Amino acid sequence: MSKYIFVTGGVVSSLGKGITSASVGKLLESRGLKVSLIKCDPYINVDPGTMNPYQHGEVYVTEDGAETDLDLGHYERFTNAHLTKDNNITTGKIYYSVISKERKGDYLGKTVQIIPHITNEIKEAIKKVAQSQRVDVVIVEIGGTVGDIESLPFLEAIRQLKLEVGREYAVNIHMTLVPYIKSAGEIKTKPTQHSVGTLREIGIIPDIIICRTEKQLSKEAKDKIALFCNVDKEAVIPAIDVRSIYEVPLCYKKEKLDSLILRLLNLKHDEKDLRSWENTVVNKIKRPKKEVKIAVVGKYITLQDAYKSIYEAMVHGGIANDAKLTIKRVDSEDIEKFGPEKFLKDAKGILVPGGFGDRGIEGKIMAIKFAREKEIPFLGLCLGMQTAVIEFARGVCGLKGANSTEFDSETKYPVISLIEEQKNIRDKGATMRLGAYRCRLKKNSLSYQAYKKEEVSERHRHRYEFNNKYRALMEEKGMLFSGVNPGKNLVEIIEIKGHPWFVACQFHPEFKSKPNKAHPLFREFIRATLEKKGA
Ligand code: GLN
Repeated sequence: MSKYIFVTGGVVSSLGKGITSASVGKLLESRGLKVSLIKCDPYINVDPGTMNPYQHGEVYVTEDGAETDLDLGHYERFTNAHLTKDNNITTGKIYYSVISKERKGDYLGKTVQIIPHITNEIKEAIKKVAQSQRVDVVIVEIGGTVGDIESLPFLEAIRQLKLEVGREYAVNIHMTLVPYIKSAGEIKTKPTQHSVGTLREIGIIPDIIICRTEKQLSKEAKDKIALFCNVDKEAVIPAIDVRSIYEVPLCYKKEKLDSLILRLLNLKHDEKDLRSWENTVVNKIKRPKKEVKIAVVGKYITLQDAYKSIYEAMVHGGIANDAKLTIKRVDSEDIEKFGPEKFLKDAKGILVPGGFGDRGIEGKIMAIKFAREKEIPFLGLCLGMQTAVIEFARGVCGLKGANSTEFDSETKYPVISLIEEQKNIRDKGATMRLGAYRCRLKKNSLSYQAYKKEEVSERHRHRYEFNNKYRALMEEKGMLFSGVNPGKNLVEIIEIKGHPWFVACQFHPEFKSKPNKAHPLFREFIRATLEKKGA
């Protein structure tokens, strides 16, 4: 039977509960255990796929094509867990299921209520992961902050679940903020005491308290938190701000968090360490040998979380090349106003990420033209590939006004358009081409050089596709279609012959990159930027 770790958060949001959950997973794996992780999101959307990045940040896509919370990206980057649609539970999903059952008559005769029907449904969804993924420990992160109305059913469900499975089968970790008050020169434990108090009111007693802080926690502060929050002194774990998120498991290891969890769960364990993670990831980030500046040209540049997996995959590409990256975030609408030169002339590489809608599109196209003409290494992802095709059609093939039908339904040259199976879809939720699809690579290509394989599988999230009507013409003009989906004959990767490194793909390679195993396309892109003259 799997054991559970429940992670809740208090005082404020954005404490890094996701990184903490992922780090706990990493620590337990390093002790020889198999883990899975679940994110519970209290919003009513069934999944984040229909949300704007400003509301939600990146939408992370799993192998089986679920559109999920970005924390699942952290989980997959830190651990070996294979996550599926079951690993992200939302209020929307739970109610959808309960209401469908009610309509079918599954609760005939009963009043359907939050307790027990909603809470039972949550418990079943959590237990399903434990049963189907056959792991030693399931880490369940509850989104939001304790005290929110929205997350109450989730908290009630984990309270019941712990009662059901018994003490040695579940551990509660509560993460809080211990603020430093500059004018007083002190850190404050009161918010933590209040937050734990709120948890206790609903019947949850934390076993471990993780304190996010910018200053060292003094022994006195730790003792005080232990006393007032009713936990062992050794169960008060500081989480000091660190430079790289990949250092967090090492910090928790130093605080012996893994041993504490194993003891509470009465789990047998190996005595392993994190030395390989430390050497191949953390030390490489801390002591890079080279440095290079790369521009990311997008629409959600001011929002740190909008391109989360892309920024992480770039860090991984840097690690693989012993290089520190300086990422210059460029708003594509600024390029429309002021031209590309001003923003891109000092960049040794240009990346255009995915996106939806026509705002900022022309700026992206201008940036791509700049990369093509100035021979700056270029990586285009999803919409980044589509805009690269549009640019090539206009700039090289002479197809004036070429566009994607997403942005101009009347365009004379629809080089990117909907394929038949997408044309009649009306619903917006979960109806894109989603999840893993195969891609066959051409041998004489930069892509093949990167992957060193003839067939790969990558994750997708898009509606529009390259329009095969234009393939022959573009090929003749110097575009290389280096990756194609064999079953559907859909273009997956394009390159430009003669350019030092110009690769763009319809899929999202960033979702499969790991710190100790950079994605081949990111690794080679960064290598190319380092080889660029003047880098
Ligand atoms: N908007 C484009 C499409 O739907 C690209 C999507 C993306 O970049 N993820 O096809």
